[in-house]
Amino acid sequence: FAPWEDAAAHPLIRFEGVTKRFGDFTAVSDLNLKIYPREFFALLGPSGCGKTTLMRMLAGFETPTEGTIWLDGQNIAPVPPNKRPVNMMFQSYALFPHLSVWDNIAFGLRRAGKDKETVRARVEEMLRLTRLDQFARRKPHQISGGQRQRVALARSLALGPKLLLLDEPLGALDKKLRQDTQFELMDIQEKTGTTFVIVTHDQEEAMTVASRVAVMDAGRLCQVDTPQHIYETPNSRYVADFIGEVSIIEGRVAALGEEAEIAYAEGARPIVTRTGGAALEPGQSVFYAIRPEKIWVGAAPHPDRINSVEGTIVDIGYLGDVSTYHVRLDTGQMVKALMTNAERYAASRFTWNDRVWLSWSRHAGVVLAS
Ligand code: ATP
Repeated sequence: FAPWEDAAAHPLIRFEGVTKRFGDFTAVSDLNLKIYPREFFALLGPSGCGKTTLMRMLAGFETPTEGTIWLDGQNIAPVPPNKRPVNMMFQSYALFPHLSVWDNIAFGLRRAGKDKETVRARVEEMLRLTRLDQFARRKPHQISGGQRQRVALARSLALGPKLLLLDEPLGALDKKLRQDTQFELMDIQEKTGTTFVIVTHDQEEAMTVASRVAVMDAGRLCQVDTPQHIYETPNSRYVADFIGEVSIIEGRVAALGEEAEIAYAEGARPIVTRTGGAALEPGQSVFYAIRPEKIWVGAAPHPDRINSVEGTIVDIGYLGDVSTYHVRLDTGQMVKALMTNAERYAASRFTWNDRVWLSWSRHAGVVLAS
């Protein structure tokens, strides 16, 4: 399932040069983006980056200042929100407190003038889908937060929208429930085949649920890709930092061929790395980004890894399954490493102030020009 790799695939949604200004403030800037049918697409970014504005334009609550949004090949600008095959589930869920679960789910169907039998069949289907059969007669205050979330989802899907917009849908749930609910959301999305666009500022959530993630900053798309590509090959320091843990080593390009050598300290052996897609020039200042779990911590350089740097442990965090090491290189640069505790016990055990070698392969990190 990778329609974005197929040039002939028709997107469900296409943003073409979309800009949204509020007065002289630009919330979304010249944005181009395609979202395909059946995708679970995440908009991820810090507060104020424009993700909600983007979603509200899809729903029809805001109109672009410039540019066009196409849905199924149609310009949706003239279509009012209630005529779009789009539904939006709000973080507050906005359930009717005096109506039963059943009536909450039936609400939109009745308002759309569906006959009694259609309403009954559809509500029952939604109850089964969201595993709420046994709660149909209860009121929202008589069920748990996770169940309320499922009622909101059932209600949003009842009319069979082509596109469901979810604004921080799990924001109100605690961490454990949130994780279970993420898998439920994925399951329901797959069963219904509805295109989901989710807005979140939680990178773990976006990475877990989404087929593709758009990382946004200040009204622009920084990178749009699968969770794995975004994690493994971020295209900028901002994206590398925003997704997961990373250490950034500043340096300059000392040699350039199939691989690059990055000099980061006087007298130290340069870091050897693949170049990826970055267009580099000799002497250029760059950032080298390396994820903690790619680094081996040892008493000596690892024999099979091309890069090894020496430093001093300043902090160890024990997290049960893994331990994290904060290591200060002799240049003063801090690097974070992570080892599973199985690896840790198999290798050597270290403590604060120990001298250690950090080793990693040429494929472990990426060079970033900005
Ligand atoms: P959050 O995660 O905090 O909801 P967001 O990424 O969803 O943030 P938006 O709600 O899209 O951000 O807002 C983007 C920017 O546009 C913000 O700086 C916001 O203050 C501004 N903005 C949004 N709506 C309006 C409006 N109606 N009038 C003026 N400015 C607005």
